[in-house]
Amino acid sequence: MIDTVKTENEKNQGDKVNLLGLSPQKLIEFFDSIGEKKFRATQVLKWIHQKGADNFEDMTDVSKALRTKLTQICEIRAPEVVSQNISSDGTRKWVIRTDGNNNDCVETVLIPDGDRATLCVSSQVGCTLDCSFCSTGKQGFNRNLTPAEIIGQVWLAIKSFGPFDPNGPRRVTNVVMMGMGEPLMNFEPVVDAMTLMMDDNAYGMSKRRVTLSTSGVVPKIYELATRTDVSLAISLHAPDNALRDVLVPINKKYPIAELLDACQHYLSSLPDKRHITIEYTLIAGVNDSEDQARDLVTLLSDLECKVNLIPFNPFPNSGYDKPSNNQVRRFQKVLADKGYTVTVRTTRGDDIDAACGQLVGDFHDRTRRSQKYIDVKTL
Ligand code: SF4
Repeated sequence: MIDTVKTENEKNQGDKVNLLGLSPQKLIEFFDSIGEKKFRATQVLKWIHQKGADNFEDMTDVSKALRTKLTQICEIRAPEVVSQNISSDGTRKWVIRTDGNNNDCVETVLIPDGDRATLCVSSQVGCTLDCSFCSTGKQGFNRNLTPAEIIGQVWLAIKSFGPFDPNGPRRVTNVVMMGMGEPLMNFEPVVDAMTLMMDDNAYGMSKRRVTLSTSGVVPKIYELATRTDVSLAISLHAPDNALRDVLVPINKKYPIAELLDACQHYLSSLPDKRHITIEYTLIAGVNDSEDQARDLVTLLSDLECKVNLIPFNPFPNSGYDKPSNNQVRRFQKVLADKGYTVTVRTTRGDDIDAACGQLVGDFHDRTRRSQKYIDVKTL
């Protein structure tokens, strides 16, 4: 029975069940499988996610016998923090080890902004999708993160401020699944982790404050609509298929029209009125002209959306350049004049390499993409 709630990676890391990544329903099923009542699962859920417990002995309202039993067969294991850097603007970046054997690492970033603090969470060690402007994509791919490794990023970020305080101000107000990896390519673990983020007995975040960002894995957007009601962001980056095929190669499989249909379906499946966030990385001379802004206006005319412009952050051998501030403003104006809400993402955490597009981690690449990339660049 225990095996039904253990992922492959968790099985490989030891015999104990890591309760950190179990969704509320899976935790109840697990407790049932060991002959324990549902309310005990809820007690333990609160201890882990609302009080930051990392051992069972601290759970003072749980009977001694159950604490002993849980200690024997379970654990609460967050990924190991390799480093924490705090930028002069308050941005925090963690490098998190996901596999002691290979030394594989991913990155997590917390961006404070007034009374908000947004955590950018990774979902994969690397990424399979190879978007041409993305440093993570260039690094190749190793594996999917487990639910414990995904929710563990939230747990660790809150813990970095000291002991959990359920009655204090929220230390993480928003989560964006926008770090390393394509979250819809690691579907079940991501859904489990987001369920924990929103559960009242765990982190209790509003569905409007948990956002999944996808490059456009269309069938999974339809599936997502049946499983959750988090907010959705689309990494669009181009106003036409010819250019998007180059920048976001998954577009060849799921072209823009199919992607926009999936977005409409997702919005219509939500119980409340919401919009899609369109992410558009502006790359000098590639996708930042005013004509392209006008094409974008036409493309998005039927979609409830707002647009987030992200000036490209160059990285070594990227082959792309950052647009000028004037060009960003001109592009923004075309959209704003047509009534779109347009934000321009300001670079945060630049001094600790935490800006968007700079998350690279360090891992064993199973795709050999990183080597091919180096070979091509050095020809
Ligand atoms: S932009 Fe996102 S989907 Fe594309 S390669 Fe980078 S991490 Fe993967």
